[in-house]
Amino acid sequence: MQKSAISTLPYPSHERRPMLTTNFHPTGRHYLQIPGPSPVPDRVLRAMSLPTIDHRGPEFAQLGLKVLADMQKVFQTKHPVMIYAASGTGAWEAALVNTLSPGDHVLMYESGHFAFLWNKLATRLGLKAETIAHPGMDNGVPASWRRGVQAHLIEERLKADTGHSIKAVCVVHNETSTGATSNIAAVRQAIDAAKHPALLLVDTISGLASADYRHDDWGVDVSISGSQKGLMLPPGISFNALSPKAIEASKTAKLSKAFWAWDEMIEMNKNGYWPSTPNTNLLYGLSEACDMIFNPAHGGLPATFARHLRWAEGTRAAVNSWGLQIQCAEPAVYSPILTGVMTPEGVDADAVRKIIYERFDCSLGTGLGKVKGRMFRIGHLGDCNDLTLIAAISACEMGLKLAGVKLAGSGVQSAMDYFSSHKGN
Ligand code: PLP
Repeated sequence: MQKSAISTLPYPSHERRPMLTTNFHPTGRHYLQIPGPSPVPDRVLRAMSLPTIDHRGPEFAQLGLKVLADMQKVFQTKHPVMIYAASGTGAWEAALVNTLSPGDHVLMYESGHFAFLWNKLATRLGLKAETIAHPGMDNGVPASWRRGVQAHLIEERLKADTGHSIKAVCVVHNETSTGATSNIAAVRQAIDAAKHPALLLVDTISGLASADYRHDDWGVDVSISGSQKGLMLPPGISFNALSPKAIEASKTAKLSKAFWAWDEMIEMNKNGYWPSTPNTNLLYGLSEACDMIFNPAHGGLPATFARHLRWAEGTRAAVNSWGLQIQCAEPAVYSPILTGVMTPEGVDADAVRKIIYERFDCSLGTGLGKVKGRMFRIGHLGDCNDLTLIAAISACEMGLKLAGVKLAGSGVQSAMDYFSSHKGN
């Protein structure tokens, strides 16, 4: 095959992805099965292609007020939601700088690579980030990276903090690097049981709009999310959902902030505007994606959550039939959004991914940080369906065999059996 380095932007979604460095596959769709960015539906792409309008004009306010209200529904909150023209990392920073002061002590649970990165960011901001994790190793990787957040460890730590030096507890809801979706209500209960005043900050960047998430009911103070996962949009928008307690904390928090500051945004958002230029076309896409998610004919948010649970179950049926380990070792917190597949000792998971990408035009998530080379991730989120997933699972099965992995049985067969015997909505 000839190498080429072409850029075909802009391009319609049914055509090849741009900026190919190889031309292995001149026809058909690429299978983007990473746990975000997830595929963007054509309907959303079309909405984003509409002309950009004046962000200070009257039509814009209608759009602004609609997406702000839509996002309150998605977060299941009655309180303000901030929409930033930034990736998820920006919203991580926004949550911290609006609620905390230099040197503040924060308790950060290490459930995987994203929790680790958030901790690094907090440290760079000048916070005293204390790491808490499930101890020990499990099959050669940190045990904490194979489980959900252990709320009892947080409770014990907070009880020992009698002077209330800890100002915030930070946890990741859906850990995209491992495939574990933690029980946030249990973390809230742990904080309450310790009678501790710390704020609860939760990263649901890859959980929102795929897994049930209840900002108000679970007593979360700041929820953080992004556009490129369950919301089926390109990267470029991120969110903070606030609680009254978080807004109160922001009035005295002393970390430097300007672009991220909530106060001006809250004021201007009341009329559907932003202090700086919002990403208008992504907001068209957000409005369209929310209409798709809320569509009562398709069952709205509850049906969206059910779809993800079912895809995850079918995917796990496949992994179990291969005889490989699912990275999340705690079934109660299996992620509806992605499944981490551990390769046998001595098999480089990235080499398997490379075969799958080159031979079958399917992108899978790489192992991140401490699990690099030990696992790959199958994303099953957003604009997905049974056949997309069966195709991705067949790419995995062929790739694993080509890499010389001895499989116990056919995962494709098990996924087909599961999906055909469990009707979806
Ligand atoms: N947190 C989680 C759980 C994520 O999955 C990601 C990205 O995948 C991030 C944070 C970082 O967000 P971004 O890459 O959009 O800045």
